[in-house]
This record gives sequence, C-alpha cells and structure tokens, in this order.
Amino acid sequence: MSSRGAVLFDLDGTVVDTVELIRESHRHAVTNVLGRDLPDEVLVAGVGKPLPEQMAAFDPEQVPALLEAYQRWNWANTASLIREYDGIADLLGRLQEAGRPLGIVTSKREVTVDLAWAELPLRQYFETIVTADDTTEHKPHPAPVLLALERLGVGAEDATFVGDAPFDLRAAHAAGVRAVAVTWGFFGREELAAEQPAVVVDTPAQLAEVLL
Ligand SMILES: [Mg+2]
Repeated sequence: MSSRGAVLFDLDGTVVDTVELIRESHRHAVTNVLGRDLPDEVLVAGVGKPLPEQMAAFDPEQVPALLEAYQRWNWANTASLIREYDGIADLLGRLQEAGRPLGIVTSKREVTVDLAWAELPLRQYFETIVTADDTTEHKPHPAPVLLALERLGVGAEDATFVGDAPFDLRAAHAAGVRAVAVTWGFFGREELAAEQPAVVVDTPAQLAEVLL
C-alpha cells in the first residue's frame, strides 16, 4: 500500500484536533442566536464545508448573526482548545524528509487557518495551503484539490488526499486522487467507509504505513 507522490491533507480533524473547539463554537452560536439546544452529531454534521453553508443548515435566515457569534467565540477559544494529534508532526517530518510534496486543502478561511499555525508549529511542513479564499467551489467539489495539485506541479495520479470527512473523500475521488480516510476526527468509520476510500486508518502510525 506504500506509495510515492504528493500528499494533501484536510486540516481540521485530520492534522489538528479542533473537534472540541469547532463543536463548542457551533453550540455557542446556535444557543445564543437561535436559542436552540442541538445534539453533538447535528452540530458537527456539516463540518468540512465552508462555515456559511454550515450556518445556513441551522437557519438560512440567520447566517450573518450565526457566523459572527461562531467566529467571535472560536477566535477567543482557539488557543485553549486547539490540540495536536499525537504522531502527526512526526509523520509530517518523515514525509518531508522523504521529499514528498505536502499540502493542505481546507474549507476554512486563511485568517482562521493562521490562528491554528499560531498555536501549533506545523505550517513549515506544507508547500501549499489551499483555503476557502482560494476557490469559488469547495469540497466536495474537486476544485480546491485540483488547485493544490497545480501549485505543487503534480498530477492526480501521483497524489493522495487524507481526510476525516465524507466531503474530503468525495473531493478526492472527483479530482482523481487516491483517498485515505482517518477515524480520529469528526466522522466515524462507517460513514467514511461508505465513501469507498482506498483505506481507512485509525492511528497516525497506520497512516505512516500507508503513505511511506
Ligand atoms: Mg476535517
């Protein structure tokens, strides 16, 4: 299963552990703006899509207020709630040493991505970062994956996309790259396996075996 070539990563729930941060940011917005108390799985059901789309799913009439409440809480709590997944920095270092082109493809805006790098020193591993600001179409559309490949100068046949969401796997398949699913983020093995990725892994050590 080992391979050569570029490796693209989703950010949230894949490279950085923002599961609690994002879930609680959603809860804050939905509780304060809509006065609703939603279960965890509903709060995070749209994670991986751009924020305005996620907010529209809660209430299409209240998107600006929901966004403002989300972002204010998220930015104020990033430093205390964002975490590094054990073994990810080691894996990224090994891939970089092996000369593998590495990139991020995220539906987050650049300003929020930079908040993550300010807390966790992982930016150095990536040659390119594709954010929601860079494309008009977003995952599960292939556009952001294709832009990352173009920036890295590699073809789809030489690339793998690693993500924790069904949207990541659909974007990978639509772009023609190998899809690898990780179970340590927002979604469970069953939902991920339903997208038929090349492989589903449970730990960064297993991911290293697949990628190196
Ligand atoms: Mg994710």
